[in-house]
Amino acid sequence: MGEFKIEEVAEALEAIVGEKNTIYEREKLEDYLKDETYPKLRLKPVADIVVVKPSNAEEVSRILKFANERGIPVFPRGGGTGLVGGAVPTRKGIVLTTERMKGIEVDRENLMAVVEAGVTLEELIKAADEAGLFFPLHPGDETAHTGGLVATNAGGVRAVKYGVMRNYVKGLEVVLPTGEILKLGGKLQKNNTGYDLMDLIIGSEGTLAIITKVILKLHPKPGASATLIVPYDDRSTAVNSVPKILQSGIIPLAIEYVERDLMEKAAKHIGEEWPVKEGSCYLLIVIVGENRDQILYESQKIAEVCQQSGSLEILFAEPKHEQEKILRIRSAALPVLETEKMVDGLDTVVPPASIGEFIDKVNEIAEKFNTYFVVAGHAGDGNMHVCIMEEEGISLEEIAEIRHEIYRAALELGGTISAEHGIGGVRLESLPLCLSRKEINLMKQIKRVFDPNNILNPGKKVPP
Ligand SMILES: Cc1cc2nc3c(=O)[nH]c(=O)nc-3n(C[C@H](O)[C@H](O)[C@H](O)COP(=O)(O)OP(=O)(O)OC[C@H]3O[C@@H](n4cnc5c(N)ncnc54)[C@H](O)[C@@H]3O)c2cc1C
Repeated sequence: MGEFKIEEVAEALEAIVGEKNTIYEREKLEDYLKDETYPKLRLKPVADIVVVKPSNAEEVSRILKFANERGIPVFPRGGGTGLVGGAVPTRKGIVLTTERMKGIEVDRENLMAVVEAGVTLEELIKAADEAGLFFPLHPGDETAHTGGLVATNAGGVRAVKYGVMRNYVKGLEVVLPTGEILKLGGKLQKNNTGYDLMDLIIGSEGTLAIITKVILKLHPKPGASATLIVPYDDRSTAVNSVPKILQSGIIPLAIEYVERDLMEKAAKHIGEEWPVKEGSCYLLIVIVGENRDQILYESQKIAEVCQQSGSLEILFAEPKHEQEKILRIRSAALPVLETEKMVDGLDTVVPPASIGEFIDKVNEIAEKFNTYFVVAGHAGDGNMHVCIMEEEGISLEEIAEIRHEIYRAALELGGTISAEHGIGGVRLESLPLCLSRKEINLMKQIKRVFDPNNILNPGKKVPP
């Protein structure tokens, strides 16, 4: 990395984006030094940084050319909602935020939207809705930026039917660390031209390029929808129903697994009441379709599968406000867990049909360590967040051991350690558990091709 003075960097950046879009005064930097990583796992930030707020790809290009020539690290930042320290500046350098890139254009004829990187998930969902279309995906925090959603290949609650972020991206405008602007893909349903560089950049967590614009596929607005809350008496019975639902031939928009204590606290946290009194855990199932008849038919079929698999009395929510309330309560789970002293929330994924076996192993690990886990997650995707809680007497070594055993359990079932949150800086040391030396070497070589001076988000995603 090059030698440089922060004041000189600030002056050069002011010449590109203007004084008011450059910040380097220490007291104004606080918000740019952290993300939403669980407090106990947070990376130590370096406060010797300049925050720069470009408004378009040309400005990003000028910033990156300057940084690349001088060997200055650049940390891309979206909404700062990441859970693995991806946007945290860990070296003296530049934080490049996309917060001024706010353009959004919905193309109803092609059922697509051209979205600038700083548009939030909330703004994207609203713009699609106002145009009579639907952006289904819902990773829990609506302040995430579109660029961040693409850079992390986000998943979340509504990925069962239509897939994760990657399944929506049709085109990207990106700026390489060396400053060249590339337009990849387009408003195309099919594209087999050359290696798929666009797919490589999706999920690259700010290490290969800065994403400035995204072409996203939208869906027609469903004519009807319903949310089912299916209570169970125990974890195993609940998750064992999930493959049976998927095998029934009906693919819901979402199948979430949650537990009663957490949902009651999450509801309270946002001033609501959890609407079900029976059971200790639940599947939340969202069904979308063309019309009410279809929804009623599919709900009935799913209810039969759940009842045959041991569920208690099912709550059927149809009015929009009720369904939105349930999603809001589900989205409040993570902030509540943090106040409940969660030490780590793992992001394992296993094949959907192995989810019951995985949960049995998780229960055995809890017993072995004489502790308890709160479990919540995207059960329909096989993606369960096992939350390790801080308990009196539990040591950091024991926590690391527990994490390792849960990772092993997922890997033995053909799963992996990160379904959707990514690697960032926090999960880097666990990467060799699931990737071979050859795979890691290929990643390092790809990083060098895109970023020969290692300026873009150094120390993240790819082991040194
Ligand atoms: C309450 C809560 C619930 C959540 N639930 C989910 C969930 O269900 N599913 C899920 O997948 N995630 C979830 N997340 C995690 C988070 O919201 C996602 O990872 C999201 O995609 C991050 O977007 P962001 O804009 O906040 O990115 P940031 O945190 O700002 O950055 C994330 C990474 O992307 C890079 N980056 C950001 N913008 C760009 C860009 N324009 N170009 C290149 N690189 C960029 C950063 O360098 C960093 O490595 C949750 C987080 C919270 C706080």
